[in-house]
Amino acid sequence: MSQLGTLYIISAPSGAGKSSLIQAFLKTQPRYDAQVSVSHTTRSKREGEQNGVHYHFVDEAHFHQMVAHNEFLEYAEVFGKFYGTSKQSILETLNSGVDVFLDIDWQGARQIRGKMPESVSIFILPPSKNELLRRLKGRGQDSDEVINFRMQKAISEMEHYAEYDYIIINDDFEKALHDLKTILRAERLKLQKQIKANDSLIFQLLSSE
Ligand code: 5GP
Repeated sequence: MSQLGTLYIISAPSGAGKSSLIQAFLKTQPRYDAQVSVSHTTRSKREGEQNGVHYHFVDEAHFHQMVAHNEFLEYAEVFGKFYGTSKQSILETLNSGVDVFLDIDWQGARQIRGKMPESVSIFILPPSKNELLRRLKGRGQDSDEVINFRMQKAISEMEHYAEYDYIIINDDFEKALHDLKTILRAERLKLQKQIKANDSLIFQLLSSE
């Protein structure tokens, strides 16, 4: 039974475990139920990242051309680099009944909420400042200045937590994953979704024959 997919916006400060949670969640779902959107970005590729898988890596001229052609559902400048969600593939996927995950910052989340108020937004928080600091220190090779800069970036993202529909605290990974699954399950059980998914059953149950 075809039904329109739901758009899930997921934001978090770096170090909250957002990408790992989304990837772990998607492994529990068939591709016809949920997919993650691959954004365009002007930042350079990091070790281990693949073009078309983690991001579509493009230069600024290409990015601004896409902006001029109105190809983005949302885009934002995040710490000096541009990031955007291309409109066409998202709308096609949603129209085919598949849920789409957007791993985007608070600025993009705001734009999407304005355009698609039926979207569902989730903010992921780390369990404590100490734990966030520990995760931001990474392999321990960065200077205090770099780590302080990352912490300031994380705080400025977290300041927007109250704009979201749901909050998940990522202390225990399995529990956070369970929380994410619970949100998805509840959203999929909502009246309008259930009517679309079960229209013939409801018709049969209510008919007097
Ligand atoms: P990173 O460079 O570490 O992959 O991502 C930096 C930030 O940009 C993260 O908060 C990530 O969620 C955000 N981001 C990634 N793709 C997009 C996008 O398409 N739009 C917006 N607004 N933010 C994005």
